[in-house]
Amino acid sequence: MSEDSGLGVLIIGGGIAGIQAALDVADQGVKAYLVERTPSVGGHMAMLDKTFPTLDCAACILTPKMVDVGRHPNVKILTYSEVREVKREGDGFEVKILKKPRNIDMSKCTGCGVCARYCPIEVPDDFNAGIGFRKAIYVPFPQAVPLKYTIDEEHCIKCELCKRVCESIGAQAVNLNQTPEYVSLNVGAIIIATGYKPFNVQQEKAYGYGKYSNVLTALELERLLSAAGPTAGHILRLSDGSIPKRVAFVQCVGSRDLHHGYSYCSRVCCMYAIKDGILLKEHLHDVDVTIFYMDIRTYGKGFEELYQRAKEEFGIQFKRGRVARIYEIPETHNLIVRAEDTETGKLVEEEFDAVVLSAGLAPPDGITELSKILGVPLDEYGFIKEADRKIDTISTPVQGVFVAGTALSPKDVPDSVSEASAAAMKAVTFLRGSK
Ligand SMILES: Cc1cc2nc3c(=O)[nH]c(=O)nc-3n(C[C@H](O)[C@H](O)[C@H](O)COP(=O)(O)OP(=O)(O)OC[C@H]3O[C@@H](n4cnc5c(N)ncnc54)[C@H](O)[C@@H]3O)c2cc1C
Ligand code: SF4
Ligand code: SF4
Repeated sequence: MSEDSGLGVLIIGGGIAGIQAALDVADQGVKAYLVERTPSVGGHMAMLDKTFPTLDCAACILTPKMVDVGRHPNVKILTYSEVREVKREGDGFEVKILKKPRNIDMSKCTGCGVCARYCPIEVPDDFNAGIGFRKAIYVPFPQAVPLKYTIDEEHCIKCELCKRVCESIGAQAVNLNQTPEYVSLNVGAIIIATGYKPFNVQQEKAYGYGKYSNVLTALELERLLSAAGPTAGHILRLSDGSIPKRVAFVQCVGSRDLHHGYSYCSRVCCMYAIKDGILLKEHLHDVDVTIFYMDIRTYGKGFEELYQRAKEEFGIQFKRGRVARIYEIPETHNLIVRAEDTETGKLVEEEFDAVVLSAGLAPPDGITELSKILGVPLDEYGFIKEADRKIDTISTPVQGVFVAGTALSPKDVPDSVSEASAAAMKAVTFLRGSK
């Protein structure tokens, strides 16, 4: 579709919500500028193995959308970039965006990956939730959009091996002297889609994450379950590489927990634990899975049915109880989960080979700075504040600035995508109204 002659829409955050918003804005013939601070669009959905409630492959749903947004003539993607300044200008906004140095000439990089084979520096792989390593020159994952390498300046030792190997294949894409660049844009509306970060489970000292190697986060388990993950889909204990036979999930870690200041329900953890429990059963047929929960919240279409299947078809045990403590048996690295069974009032202790912490969804890093730049307030939980919690959740209190997905509050992919389409429609309507 041809570009609207007027101002475009800036979308901040390139997860599933930002991608959907950009596609819907662009399909209206309006230019969409999608700013993502990491080297690729995709967000957290790119890290997921399967998606509830249908257990479809997450990448099979996300990748075509990433490709579409990358190719859409009305979408300009600015990755490895951050919004630094926003000023009201007439009917719209004047925006200054920082393009961080990738140290790669994107027009020359073919994404062949030869450079990464020679780079001597390995750092924990964020995309694999810290399991395994990536090189200092890297793409976060093979389906990245754009499929262009990035040099992580924090870890690069400037040995120039990548530069030499890239030159030897005739690409000459490495430029170790790139400097930050600023891009100025005039846009008519803004959509915030900056997503979430998982609750930092290390704050919950009683669960031993970081101290006991067989205590995992759910996102780590997602990467272990993924055929494209660090163990090629093999579920192994991180302590000794053995196959776990008894796995526990601990619900509401960093959710519904006033102790850590997270009073809200994160909405997705019950469902992702049910999903991951089933996937574990499918991967390891003789594994016992127990989910320790406070309440099971299966609020969406097809959710209750998946819960019932988890119990009846897959034999997953659901135990109602708040887990008080997890401790390790040093000789075996097995874990004892101590919980109060709230149905009997008794204290229970059970041994497991691995424990998965169902971490809640917290506001992302940098949200306070962004809210100041945009003049948009945050709510009592630190997420973007909506104009009206009852009837206008997509608008913010600032005219022309909208919000979608988990930037507003914890939610799943279907709800994030619906909000993104709604925000795109509101932004385009606003734009045309002001014109
Ligand atoms: C373990 C786990 C399993 C899950 N399983 C499922 C499931 O099976 N089904 C389901 O429906 N949901 C699931 N979810 C929830 C799902 O991850 C979210 O609903 C979805 O990712 C929300 O998308 P989003 O675009 O709002 O946010 P995100 O995926 O967080 O994307 C936000 C993007 O914005 C970028 N960003 C942040 N700040 C800035 C900034 N200042 N400037 C530029 N860019 C920025 C980030 O880098 C990121 O790319 C799961 C969540 C977890 C933790
Ligand atoms: S930087 Fe060079 S070697 Fe590395 S992926 Fe790009 S073209 Fe290939
Ligand atoms: S210059 Fe940096 S990125 Fe390139 S090979 Fe050396 S350490 Fe790796």
